[in-house]
Amino acid sequence: MLRKLLPLLLVACCVVVVVAWASRGPAQQPELPAQFRKLLPLHQKLGKPRPGDWLAVHPEPGQTYRQYVGGRPTKPDKRRRVIYVQPLGDFNRTQRKIINRTAEFLGIYFDLPVKIRKELPLELIPEKARRTHPTWGDKQILSTYVLHDVLRPRLPKDACVLIAFTTSDLWPGEGWNFVFGQASLRERVGVWSIYRNGDPRESGQAFRLCLRRTIKTATHETGHMFSMMHCTLYECNMCGSNHRAESDRRPLALCPHCLAKLCHATGADPQKRFEKLIAFCKANGLKAEQEFYEKSLAALRSK
Ligand SMILES: [Zn+2]
Ligand SMILES: [Zn+2]
Repeated sequence: MLRKLLPLLLVACCVVVVVAWASRGPAQQPELPAQFRKLLPLHQKLGKPRPGDWLAVHPEPGQTYRQYVGGRPTKPDKRRRVIYVQPLGDFNRTQRKIINRTAEFLGIYFDLPVKIRKELPLELIPEKARRTHPTWGDKQILSTYVLHDVLRPRLPKDACVLIAFTTSDLWPGEGWNFVFGQASLRERVGVWSIYRNGDPRESGQAFRLCLRRTIKTATHETGHMFSMMHCTLYECNMCGSNHRAESDRRPLALCPHCLAKLCHATGADPQKRFEKLIAFCKANGLKAEQEFYEKSLAALRSK
């Protein structure tokens, strides 16, 4: 089911990136700047995809750092530098916490200012853009309506991206069951649902799982919005995911190529970024991620 859904969304955004690169050709950039090469031994190369995995279903060429830089990626600039987060729906206190922490994490991950906008009610969505899933009974809203009719008219002038998080399940139209999220690269808007990320009120572990899933999706999709294609080199947050189990086993960390792309796009200092990521993971009980970032920081500092 997910296999059927996710490809359309993600391939659709990658097409834009491929065209931009192909029309320019790679620039004379180093394959990977020296400081990022120091991180390579920490990262696991991608093995053969398992049946049903993203790359088993969608063979993709990938995108090295050099190809990325040569493809004139979409980047935040002086005028458009703020990541806006738009809550949409009725959030309980715990869900609001997830959104606040995701916003904080996005700011650290991309080294950009983040602003959370005032919540919008689900009542904004008209009947024509709602349905009850015919067999499961889940109440859903139409993701394309959110992109075009809710977000686009509200896009602030200084936004590099406007991301809505909703408590409602989403579906993208005829023939689909549901989607986790959907983005429009050209219009700098995206919407993601936390509906299928588990109930964070159940336990501390459930909270961390919901947070991990939400920040992973938010950063992966925002990476696409800055022209980063799916990673085919390493286990990486920019790897495509075709189903929940694949998405859950991908790391939150970026491989050195994808990290170099992010730093190129945003101007982030990788060492300072790791320091802040460590502090965030420590404060939020993301222990494995904290330890990985600590190792990464030590490798970057090594001579
Ligand atoms: Zn993707
Ligand atoms: Zn990568």
